[in-house]
Amino acid sequence: MGLPSSVKVLGATYTVHQQPANTDESNVSGLFDYNRRTIYVDGTLSAEVQTEVFYHELIHALLAHTGLEELLDDKTQEALCTGLGTGLARFAEENRE
Ligand SMILES: [Zn+2]
Repeated sequence: MGLPSSVKVLGATYTVHQQPANTDESNVSGLFDYNRRTIYVDGTLSAEVQTEVFYHELIHALLAHTGLEELLDDKTQEALCTGLGTGLARFAEENRE
């Protein structure tokens, strides 16, 4: 699946950039920027991994917009985003019409 150029998340429109995220952290494959309403996915990754990263960042967005992120420590949040993100990416792939 190709990534959409923008997505709506609970009413907020996010731009999706397929490029390395501009960040001080090294080795990030994706980034969710709440204030800029932007999701970055490293466009040099394989299409399959880009989709997993995209869903990972989308879960971050959902946690932020529902207030759930306030209830979760960073480690739990990352584990949730990776597990559910990969699960949703596989679900979308395995249930395409
Ligand atoms: Zn994350």
